[in-house]
This record gives sequence, structure tokens and C-alpha cells, in this order.
Amino acid sequence: MSTKHSVHVSIDTDICIGSGQCALTAPGVFTQDDDGFGQVIEGKEDGAGDPLVKEAARACPVQAITVEED
Ligand code: SF4
Repeated sequence: MSTKHSVHVSIDTDICIGSGQCALTAPGVFTQDDDGFGQVIEGKEDGAGDPLVKEAARACPVQAITVEED
């Protein structure tokens, strides 16, 4: 039985202001696109078991990051 904590991470691109805070806080899950806006790294939408995901969501200055618990 897997005990891996699984979530679903998404960014509301209408709200994101491109501060880059998420990529700095949890670089294993978030990156920035060419225009500097936050992006969930492809394949890391499940949070990759990274506890920093929630930190990143808190660090976002405009609360653009949603972390849904599965
Ligand atoms: S921390 Fe928030 S505002 Fe900044 S890039 Fe990430 S999602 Fe966008």
C-alpha cells in the first residue's frame, strides 16, 4: 500500500503576476515560463510528494496556486 501523499497542483494564470516566488520556493515542482509566469512542471501536477508545494502556495503573493488534496 502506498502512503505517498498525493495532491493536485495548479496555477490560476489569470491571477499570477509572475513574481517567481513559487519556482524559488519549490523548484522541484514549479518553474517560470518565458514571460516569467509561474508554471507547474510537466508531470509534477501531483506535487511529486514535495512538502515544499504547500510552502510555495503560501508564498505566492496573490494566492494563484491551488493545492487540492486527493
Ligand atoms: S508565486 Fe504566484 S504570482 Fe508568483 S509566479 Fe508563482 S504563481 Fe505566479
